Amino acid sequence: MSAQLDLPLSQVLVFEKTGRVLWRRGAPTLKGDPLSELVGAYLLEEKGGTQSARIGDHALDWRFVNEADLVVVTAAPASMELDWTGDLCDSVRKKVAALAKSGHVQEALRSSFDPTFDGLEKEFEARLRIRRKKQQADLEARKARSAEAAQRRAEAEAEAAEAAEEEEGAEKTDEDPLARLKRRTATKSSSGGRRRGKKKPTDSSEKAGKKPTVWRDGSQRNKKATAAEVAALDRSGAHGDAAAQQAAQDRHLEEMRGTYLANEGEKAAWDEEEELLLEDESDDEAAPKSWFGRNVGNLLNNVAGSQTLTKEEIEPVMADLRKTLLEKNVAVEVADAVTKSVADSLVGQKVERFGRASTMIKQALAAAVERVLTPKRSTDVLREVLDAKRKGKTYSIVFVGINGVGKSTSLSKVAYYLKEHNIDVMITACDTFRSGAVEQLRSHAKCLDVELFEKGYLKDPADVARASLVHAKQAKKDCVLIDTAGRMQNNDKLMRELAKLVSVNTPDLVLFVGEALVGNDGIDQLNMFNKSLAQFCSDGRTIDGLVLTKFDTIDDKVGATLSMTYKTGQPIMFIGVGQKYTHLKKLSVNAVVNALFK
Ligand code: GDP
Repeated sequence: MSAQLDLPLSQVLVFEKTGRVLWRRGAPTLKGDPLSELVGAYLLEEKGGTQSARIGDHALDWRFVNEADLVVVTAAPASMELDWTGDLCDSVRKKVAALAKSGHVQEALRSSFDPTFDGLEKEFEARLRIRRKKQQADLEARKARSAEAAQRRAEAEAEAAEAAEEEEGAEKTDEDPLARLKRRTATKSSSGGRRRGKKKPTDSSEKAGKKPTVWRDGSQRNKKATAAEVAALDRSGAHGDAAAQQAAQDRHLEEMRGTYLANEGEKAAWDEEEELLLEDESDDEAAPKSWFGRNVGNLLNNVAGSQTLTKEEIEPVMADLRKTLLEKNVAVEVADAVTKSVADSLVGQKVERFGRASTMIKQALAAAVERVLTPKRSTDVLREVLDAKRKGKTYSIVFVGINGVGKSTSLSKVAYYLKEHNIDVMITACDTFRSGAVEQLRSHAKCLDVELFEKGYLKDPADVARASLVHAKQAKKDCVLIDTAGRMQNNDKLMRELAKLVSVNTPDLVLFVGEALVGNDGIDQLNMFNKSLAQFCSDGRTIDGLVLTKFDTIDDKVGATLSMTYKTGQPIMFIGVGQKYTHLKKLSVNAVVNALFK
């Protein structure tokens, strides 16, 4: 009944709504018993529409087989962010429903569902293999395009340098540049010039021992003038400008690819797991002690043998914990609350030896930090998008925040993340105010190879967003990411426009993008956005969650993270950990706690 699963899941089950399991594959039990919570919190209450949730360490999907009063559940480790478990759950449901038609479903499940499920498992494994291959092929195609463009740029630069050299020579001979280029073009075919992708000219005259023509300025003139060269030198019309503009755009795009696309073989940040570092710091005598190592040592000197901790004993450690939290940018009231919560959970605990005390304190702090960081709403954006996709709906996310914090980069990272999880994404340019904003998004869209919807500048952003959502629906896009203008401070007009965009289009998610380091400034910015949205939105809608950028630059100063969530009640949906599209992840409680103990 509980044979191994070949797919990377924890469990697949079919059970009666009373909780009696009729068929199971995978681990006999799950840590934290998420199924009991599922039954109590979701199935009995029949929470409308919800068919997936993160419970403890697991991501659960479930489907009702109403014909037989049964429930199908798949459970996977939440850290794996699998996006196909809902589909598997659907498929299992169909098979169970088919069995139910034949009557005697319980008997049929026991006797013949194993081979049916084996077949489904094989089908899904094959699908995943194909998808992995496709993702690999996409990645390689992207890299090839990038390498090709770099090669083109290098060639264009080399040719431009030669043209400049030649022009200099022509000026000396008073020859008309356009006439000379045309002459070069006309005489070129016999001279065997450079071809794209070949490093050296394959000049037949060279091979035959003939010397290439050397002109008066000493340069070699056996090379065909390219269209770009002709265009660059043809100052008689607009052609020169267009070609130069195109070359500049190509160069810019190439630079963007270098900055934002991942290096070969680089793992995406969202795939990295962060463990809570629990090792006993007293073991390595030579290693410099962190504040934590020193203080737990002192604490243990006071607590002899097997004793329970008293408030007085832990006070010095708690005082240091509070000081450390403040040093790491945690706001005072948040540091006080966290310290109190840790102290409350330690008083009365039994301590047997140093290692256990240190683990206990770390775990108590981890639990307190988790309480602060655990939001009221789900932070699993991918799951929400997948749910919408399953229902044939287009999910929409509006990104807000002031300029320069990394808003368009974060939007692009989310586009990349969703695309990597098989979501068909479109980007909408609703910053119709800041010059260059649309072009910047266009470049990102090209790098990402996703569609950009834009109507240029000075349009009402609410109208642009509405048109884009209509278009996305027609084009069956799964998700639309909407960029907005960023110069909001004291700008009532832009704030009203943003509020109108949100209230007219009712996006599924409004995300505030801010820098992880700024702490109080960030809280002020967020409060300002919330206040303005609440004031101007007809339905009083506010921000749903945060994206905090530039985590890679803050070292261990993770305090602003805690303060932002504690003070605003807004969950952190994503953090940015570098410039590249792959540098996006969910906030890990363990990473925050490890940084606090550094
Ligand atoms: P916007 O004006 O808010 O749209 O800002 P941009 O998206 O243009 O980002 C401003 C700068 O911050 C760019 O140079 C980005 O590459 C950089 N940036 C964005 N996110 C991160 C991050 O998580 N880490 C680092 N180091 N740089 C980032």
